[in-house]
Amino acid sequence: MNASMEQLISLCKRRGFIFQGSEIYGGLAGTWDYGPLGIELKRNIQNLWWKTFVTDREDMYGVDAAILMNQNVWKASGHVGGFSDPLVECSNCKSRFRADHLEGDACPTCNKTGTLGEARQFNMMFKTTVGALEDADSIAYLRPETAQGMFVNFKNVVDSIHPKLPFGLAQIGKAFRNEIAPRDFIFRSREFEQMEIEYFVHEAHWKDRFEDWRVSVHAWIASLGIPADKVHELEVSEGDLAHYSKRTIDFEFDFPFGRKELYGLAYRTNFDLNTHADASTVPLYVVEDETGEKVTPHCIEPSFGVDRTVLAVLASAYREEGDGADTRIVLKLPVVLAPYKACVSPLLKNKPELVEKARILYSALKKSMGSVAWDDNGNIGKRYRRQDEIGTPCCIVVDFDTLGENPDLLDTVTVRDRDTGTQERVAISALPAYLNERMS
Ligand code: ATP
Repeated sequence: MNASMEQLISLCKRRGFIFQGSEIYGGLAGTWDYGPLGIELKRNIQNLWWKTFVTDREDMYGVDAAILMNQNVWKASGHVGGFSDPLVECSNCKSRFRADHLEGDACPTCNKTGTLGEARQFNMMFKTTVGALEDADSIAYLRPETAQGMFVNFKNVVDSIHPKLPFGLAQIGKAFRNEIAPRDFIFRSREFEQMEIEYFVHEAHWKDRFEDWRVSVHAWIASLGIPADKVHELEVSEGDLAHYSKRTIDFEFDFPFGRKELYGLAYRTNFDLNTHADASTVPLYVVEDETGEKVTPHCIEPSFGVDRTVLAVLASAYREEGDGADTRIVLKLPVVLAPYKACVSPLLKNKPELVEKARILYSALKKSMGSVAWDDNGNIGKRYRRQDEIGTPCCIVVDFDTLGENPDLLDTVTVRDRDTGTQERVAISALPAYLNERMS
């Protein structure tokens, strides 16, 4: 069954994944806060992405640029002049909409027709000032994408690391867009995170490298447990291409509210390096080893939204199984993404000997695996349900047999599997190897 947005939002709030931003003050539209479990899931996604696209490869380098950048960066990139959406206002209820998201000529809020005004361009960058003086020179923008941080550091990386083409820069970080109508939970917010790659190639090779990245994006999506049949490529038509792009594919996902962009893959030519070189008057190129020739590489950009990834992962993992009182909600997350890898419980919380033994095991596992939960609330069935709901792959229970009531089972525990509900008896000494195997 497909999860609804109500089910996902309710689970996220109930179990500490994601909360409305500034909630106790009535919220701030377009902002979301990650709670204790949400941040674990989000970090696991980011860490897997970094491992997949940076540390496991030989041709990728990370950067972490400042969010505030010289305003000339955004003038050169075209964002000051053109990073805008068409804004339409209803003269009756004053609601504001993105003109390109409207269907029909009635206002979606008050349903009146003939009240929607002319569309005007609205720049989506958040503006601020840097330093004590507020004048034209002190204007700065919160970055609306992480990409430019990599283009402006191109020369620094080339001069310090001396990479050979093809090579890429990767960055994970916050981006800010003053979206006219933030909506659909964390899908469209005003503050979000991106994981972006600028991959530099010889112009002659862009088509092959673009194809490599198209395949890599699909492999990444599969590694998150997102079913391939819910992912669709949209070849952006020439008329809709961004000013810097000669080819773009959107990777769309069947979100509960419809098919929408999850990621993008763009061939940005050498537009960015050329415009920054012109505007800054600092030449941006690599020198070819064999010929000594200066080359301004072309760039392929796979761009991944972190929050849209979280949402697609949750939507793909969410299940409700069984009927009526027996219904269980389970997040069938890939183990690598699960906020907790295991949960340790004493069978009964009022038996000190069980609690003591379970605590020792819990501490040892926490030391070796980090993300391990402790749960001694309610009966075992309820604990299993609670862990299922947050995607914990294994529940480990210390019972009287662990203490030797049945001598054959001394120092063994029950390990219950999230997905199948099956239980196995495992020796404590064999647990690390057992869990390692289960985690890989
Ligand atoms: P859309 O058409 O949905 O507004 P976009 O084409 O403007 O998205 P890009 O500029 O290509 O998006 O940004 C790269 C990625 O950043 C997107 O594929 C998406 O995953 C993420 N992203 C963009 N805008 C937002 C937002 N407002 N909230 C959350 N994630 C976003």
